[in-house]
Amino acid sequence: MRKKYICGNWKMNKTSSDALEFAKKINDFDFEKVDVLIAPSFVCLESFRKNLKNEIIVAGQNVSEFDDGAYTGEVSTSMLKDISVNDVIIGHSERREKFFESDEIVNSKVKKALEDGLSVILCLGESLEKKEENKAVEFVREELLKSLDGVKNLDKVTIAYEPIWAIGTGKTCSSEDAENMCKEIRNIIDEKYGEISQQIRILYGGSVKPANAGEILSKENIDGVLVGGASLKAEDFIEIIKAGENL
Ligand code: PEP
Repeated sequence: MRKKYICGNWKMNKTSSDALEFAKKINDFDFEKVDVLIAPSFVCLESFRKNLKNEIIVAGQNVSEFDDGAYTGEVSTSMLKDISVNDVIIGHSERREKFFESDEIVNSKVKKALEDGLSVILCLGESLEKKEENKAVEFVREELLKSLDGVKNLDKVTIAYEPIWAIGTGKTCSSEDAENMCKEIRNIIDEKYGEISQQIRILYGGSVKPANAGEILSKENIDGVLVGGASLKAEDFIEIIKAGENL
């Protein structure tokens, strides 16, 4: 049985003080049936983690594929581990589109993070153009296989299916379409990796809100949600966690 995973991605929002206010609110809320993760900005990571209850996982939103050295503005796996951050989101569509991260770069980051013992949430998903050309499955297959090229063990990998046209737009993929794509992803993983396909968690992301979280989370092949906008308000994020708790 795969435990549902409720993940928040704050993107470039919230100062460290904002993050501490959020921590105070969410620390009072108890949950037991789901796993919960929040990815704040790098500058908030350490203080947020220290002020948040241990049940909530704190993750980076990105990590470098390099060890250390002349990479201005980058953050390494060892820097994350040094502050007890052991999870990272890699390949978010905003990184791919706005910071030109190719499948090859994403693949290097995934391999580096896994080699160094981090758990990875690998994001992927098609553009509106690919969807309208009826090439969404083909695109997602290629993105998945390229992003995981050379990765032998998926024990520490979670996949987040996030159709780009549904991110931050208010347009949600129907729960049936999201379920179908997550099932396709599971089948592709099964072809390539075998049995682990039944254990790996596959999340949906794209305009998830308290109002639609329950329906999305009720689907068999959707093991959780990656939430952007609605994770910024503690009250909304708590409602989404409750949707997972109440299944
Ligand atoms: C995201 O940032 O991964 C995301 C899904 O954003 P939103 O929930 O705002 O669409």
